[in-house]
Amino acid sequence: MRPPNYYAHPGFERAGLRRREPDWIRARVLDPASVFVPVWRSQNLVIEVEGGEPIAAVLTVDAVGAVIGGLSDGDIAERLARGEFVFLGLIDERANFALDVSAIEAPLDMLRSPALAAAGIAEAGVRFADLRQLAGRLDRREGALLALARAMMFWHSRHRFCGLCGAPTRSEEAGHMRRCTDPGCNAMHFPRTDPAVIMLVTDGERALLGRNKNFVPGMYSTLAGFVEPGESLEDAVAREVREETAIEVGAVHYHSSQPWPFPASLMLGFHATARTRALTIDPEELEDGRWFSATEIRGFAGTGFSLPRPDSISRRLIEDWLRN
Ligand SMILES: [Zn+2]
Repeated sequence: MRPPNYYAHPGFERAGLRRREPDWIRARVLDPASVFVPVWRSQNLVIEVEGGEPIAAVLTVDAVGAVIGGLSDGDIAERLARGEFVFLGLIDERANFALDVSAIEAPLDMLRSPALAAAGIAEAGVRFADLRQLAGRLDRREGALLALARAMMFWHSRHRFCGLCGAPTRSEEAGHMRRCTDPGCNAMHFPRTDPAVIMLVTDGERALLGRNKNFVPGMYSTLAGFVEPGESLEDAVAREVREETAIEVGAVHYHSSQPWPFPASLMLGFHATARTRALTIDPEELEDGRWFSATEIRGFAGTGFSLPRPDSISRRLIEDWLRN
């Protein structure tokens, strides 16, 4: 059986019903067994020593207190209401929280704290990193946990005000909802994830790959695009392929999906069969697009061409096609 796509399946119980028990949530924040995943301005805290693979750096409640300067019960309620703590779920009965430390100007200074040293976090090799730059080198469960923490904090940072009336919002349900503070409005806002389709188009012999001008030199990938309102996923696949390459697709088969919190997408992967073969590349969308045989793709190694990063569903779509 194939493993889930990277960033999916964090291996924990989300325990959604517990989010509505504020007393239980506050007690878990103070629980020495709880685990905190710091997020600083969309970056995650990792430890990476030379020659080794990175690991996630997580905090205990003592370390959290040292970082944010003490934790009283009232303080916890206020920080929960601001969305600085988000309950992520339970792993072996231990509560996991995302912790927003974005307000701290120089977060690495906090690593000099003795409480952090006591939590096993030494200064050496610790840094805030963009999860994308780790490209799947973290253990899968850690990758999924950090991705979720990052996604939740991104959502909070962009929903401090009500989209209906403009009044400030406050976080409820342990960080899984924000409510407008204007009693006349009272609108509820929920974390969003934006569906995007990503598809490998093949003509039976060859696969259609393209490159965007922002890609690293030499890299070719599958086509992709956001689903628009009023579209089915199949419609979105056909439209994106037509817009970018003028290819008409016939059969569209679902493959798998991947959370892609950069910043807030859910990638829905498909294999699609082309009904036409002549390419007209839209230069606004793609710098180049071509048909490649499986032999050509396998021969990429060392030629200056490259496939998408190993943690991506686009890579998975290509590799699964190559295998068949
Ligand atoms: Zn409002």
